[in-house]
Amino acid sequence: MRRVTGMRGVATSILGLAALTASGAVFAAAGRGEPPVLRQGGVEAVHVQGNIWLFAGAGGNVVASVGPDGVLLVDSGAESMAEALLTEIQELQRMLDFGSLPPPGLRGGAEALQTTPIYTRPPPKPIRYILNTHYHPDHTGGNETLANAGVTFAGGNVSGSIQDADEGAAILAHENTLFHMVDAEAPFRALPTDTYYGEYYKLSHFFNGEGIRLIHMPGAHTDGDSIVHFTRSDVIVAGDTYSAATYPVIDLERGGHINGVIDALNYMLELAIPSFRTEGGTLIVPGSGRISDSADLGYYRDMLTIIRDHMQIMIDDGMSLEDVKAARPTLGYDPRFGADDGPWTTEMFVEAVYRNLTETPAPEEYRGLPPYSGGPGR
Ligand SMILES: [Zn+2]
Repeated sequence: MRRVTGMRGVATSILGLAALTASGAVFAAAGRGEPPVLRQGGVEAVHVQGNIWLFAGAGGNVVASVGPDGVLLVDSGAESMAEALLTEIQELQRMLDFGSLPPPGLRGGAEALQTTPIYTRPPPKPIRYILNTHYHPDHTGGNETLANAGVTFAGGNVSGSIQDADEGAAILAHENTLFHMVDAEAPFRALPTDTYYGEYYKLSHFFNGEGIRLIHMPGAHTDGDSIVHFTRSDVIVAGDTYSAATYPVIDLERGGHINGVIDALNYMLELAIPSFRTEGGTLIVPGSGRISDSADLGYYRDMLTIIRDHMQIMIDDGMSLEDVKAARPTLGYDPRFGADDGPWTTEMFVEAVYRNLTETPAPEEYRGLPPYSGGPGR
């Protein structure tokens, strides 16, 4: 388990490691000695690793790839925080100043493996993509404002958007997320411009020097959840299939299921590679709460599996919902993850799991990891 309590601590500890990496060069180039944390209108930028940054305080966690190709966002926070988030993104781009850096390796094939910088201080590149992990307004509320501030990277696999290339960033999501946003009467400009319906979707080209995949987690927090895998920075964005602060929210009305949440956690554990035992290595950014590693994710998976299995035994013994609530199946975990008030109480979680286990069929299980690249799609 990571021995830091706050995000600022994570950023500080990661900065030490980053001195050996390209991102370390970024801070050296920017002449920054202090931890890479910024504050702007309540939004806080925290370096995760590689190209990847977490913007906390804008609603749900917002994650960004920031580099020479521009900005790719995973989720867009709450609508009310969109302007503050945009300001913070632009401030971070100014701080990183990619104009003075050579392009990352592996860009554009062998001819790009040169040491001469191609970029000579151009203005910061715009927001190119917004990837939505699911439809909830605390994760998609900034879509309209941030997409309007961006420009689509025409010529990629977003052919549907090329004619609109100067009209804002592309928004990608699982198709169920689009359906839920339409049902919720989200503004037209906030809706995904491109959707996928298979097991996963990959950007057809590198962005900021790495491959990026959305992978569908069926029937977990909702029925339209995607996790996002940054393959070179080694970061997984979990959306609300994982929370480092609360029990998982299970959106029963939109296909959420405790078994799907546990499947998603198992999937991410399979995808993640710790640097030693279960520590470090692949970092996982939850939908809310602090940056995590495999140990944190494994603890959360174990907790949910134990709670679910205890409740299944109670249900098999014929206990009613009231009986199960009275037996407090989450008791040992409540000090860390429970809540007596607010939008997602412990009681609501127990009731959702009870209803899942007694009323709703479990979602289809995963068959394995997708091919890394070049392999046939399934
Ligand atoms: Zn959510």
